[in-house]
Amino acid sequence: MDQQHLLIINAGSSSLKLTLATAPDYRILAAFLAERLGTDTPTLNQKAPQNASESLAAGSGHHEALEACLARLNDQGLLTRAPDAVGHRVVHGGEAFTDSALIDDQVTAAIDACSTLAPLHNPANLAGIRATQALYPDCPQVAVFDTAFHQSLPEAAYHYAVPRALYRDHGVRRYGFHGTSHRWILQQAAGWLEQPAEGTSIISAHLGNGCSVTAVRDGRSVDTSMGLTPLEGLVMGTRSGDVDPGLFDFLLRRGYGAEAIHDMLNRESGLLGLSGVSHDMRTLTEAAEDGHEQADLAVNVFCFRLARYIGAMMASLDRLDALVFTGGIGENSPLVRQRTLAHLGIFGLTLDGDSNRHPEPAEAAGIHASGTPPVLVIPTDEEQMIALDTHRLTTGRRSP
Ligand code: ADP
Repeated sequence: MDQQHLLIINAGSSSLKLTLATAPDYRILAAFLAERLGTDTPTLNQKAPQNASESLAAGSGHHEALEACLARLNDQGLLTRAPDAVGHRVVHGGEAFTDSALIDDQVTAAIDACSTLAPLHNPANLAGIRATQALYPDCPQVAVFDTAFHQSLPEAAYHYAVPRALYRDHGVRRYGFHGTSHRWILQQAAGWLEQPAEGTSIISAHLGNGCSVTAVRDGRSVDTSMGLTPLEGLVMGTRSGDVDPGLFDFLLRRGYGAEAIHDMLNRESGLLGLSGVSHDMRTLTEAAEDGHEQADLAVNVFCFRLARYIGAMMASLDRLDALVFTGGIGENSPLVRQRTLAHLGIFGLTLDGDSNRHPEPAEAAGIHASGTPPVLVIPTDEEQMIALDTHRLTTGRRSP
């Protein structure tokens, strides 16, 4: 069986994204987003092939949202029998998973065991897996981990300089996230460069609401900016990224509780905390253009931290085939790309002003000045990467 109909499921703590697509030639047949699950006002929005929005019953969770999506698919004649396979995004695979995995009881137990490392995300991912298992007990299911691509990090890149017992007893180390996106970017960049992914060395900057940068050496992730949790590294929409670890006890001694510090660094910091205006880069760019000084500062801190990290990633490479921008900000903000590259002239990285302002709408577009190292804009597509992995693991065939 070559052509498959796949469900791709991305279950967040209070949301569920569901895509129905074909594989290996990837075509989206339908897409849904359920939000505010578990609250009094859950909603279900269909994004493809038509736009529709409805309320779900108060208190509806992942299972109810999934049933509602499947009922719509059935009504619309898009999925009238079980799918051929289901692919799930799973945030944390710890050290147990170096690749995506066909789900069985052992895999589910290992995902459950990783919940201590991702207490909000892994239980939601498991809820998505259990809901589809209940509905389609005979359908093969695949878990695709955000962390798996970074399991190739060398020891020097993943250890924190803290007592070794923390690693041994509690798994405290750097894991990295956004691996599915960075892997997609590697494939696309290799395609643009017309060389095999295994021989490609890039720095990939995924800049969405969460942001991370990864060094890929000969097709393997060798350093990345996120760590034990997705809080480390770059400035993000509402996350601080790196701060002095001394900040924790500084605040604790001034009466802040651990929970309050956690919320402050995860939900009230980053672009939002710095600007006092918004977590959204588009809004901040417009405010900065209107002369809002704090918004302008937030964009500058974001770009400087990013440039600093791109510089740090160079330490893991012996050659740079391309620097890639992706994610909502990376793909759409000429200002962020220009302000970031302004710090990186020492590496010979230089933008072409026109192509940076108007990159070709393509799978990969070069925005560098001629004769300088490639700088690319590549749209990320985590759903397609999950679909290709699901196809590979359920048919035994390599995807194209
Ligand atoms: P998520 O991580 O939730 O998937 P996205 O990858 O969609 O998020 O990225 C969201 C970010 O992309 C927001 O900060 C948004 O303002 C930014 N963005 C989208 N379009 C533009 C644009 N034209 N200019 C600047 N920023 C943009």
